Amino acid sequence: MPEKKPIIIANWKMKLGGKESQKLALAIKHNFVNRHQVVICPSFLDLIDMGQILKNSSIKLGAQDCFWETEGAFTGEISPKHLKEAGCEYAILGHSERRRHLGETDEIVHQKVKMALSAGLIPIICVGETFEQRQEGAKDYVLIQQTTKALEGISVSQDQAIIIAYEPVWVIGSGQAVEPAEAEAAHQVIWQTLFDFFPSELVKNNMSVIYGGSVDSDNVSSFTNLQNTNGVLVGTASLDAKEFIDLVKNA
Ligand code: PEP
Repeated sequence: MPEKKPIIIANWKMKLGGKESQKLALAIKHNFVNRHQVVICPSFLDLIDMGQILKNSSIKLGAQDCFWETEGAFTGEISPKHLKEAGCEYAILGHSERRRHLGETDEIVHQKVKMALSAGLIPIICVGETFEQRQEGAKDYVLIQQTTKALEGISVSQDQAIIIAYEPVWVIGSGQAVEPAEAEAAHQVIWQTLFDFFPSELVKNNMSVIYGGSVDSDNVSSFTNLQNTNGVLVGTASLDAKEFIDLVKNA
């Protein structure tokens, strides 16, 4: 069974070139406080180099996406199997930026989750409402829909794990996180959806729900201290070594 530690995931998006990524990974590794499970998700191009840099540390490597097949004529796509071979243990799937800019549907996310799991990766499935959906009062519906569609019909074994990241789309990159109580309420909706689908022991032991959206070193503990929250997904604040190290310390 995978160990379930509080987790902090750094999503570097398409923000850093190779040299900048190396510099940042080295700084994080050298100042690392080993209290939580930290996962770094650099660009695909930098995965091999990051794997070398992080080799003798407890920091894990993740991808920002993966394809829904393991191999074949899929020009430009990245196989979950090859990610695993490159040292990745995690893959972010269904990030709102991919849903918005690349037309990723719930069905695509579902196929990716299935393939990531069978390749031995831990999927980090991003779910969250837009501002308009929130205004319409559809937040819970969106969370239930996205979680259900991603996982419907998928069997999860005792040696697999799943992370759901609640990321309210409208706060990502805004510098203004939601109130912790609001995140906690959303997490409860997600937990309930998981309990509706899977045996409760499996949900408790192998599944995690984390928060993402403008988390920084000042506000991180207000999320990691929540009862129904297993960690955070961090974009902007993971791009600066000092800020990210402080964030890990304060978590
Ligand atoms: C993200 O993109 O997943 C994210 C959480 O970004 P930020 O921390 O910048 O809001």
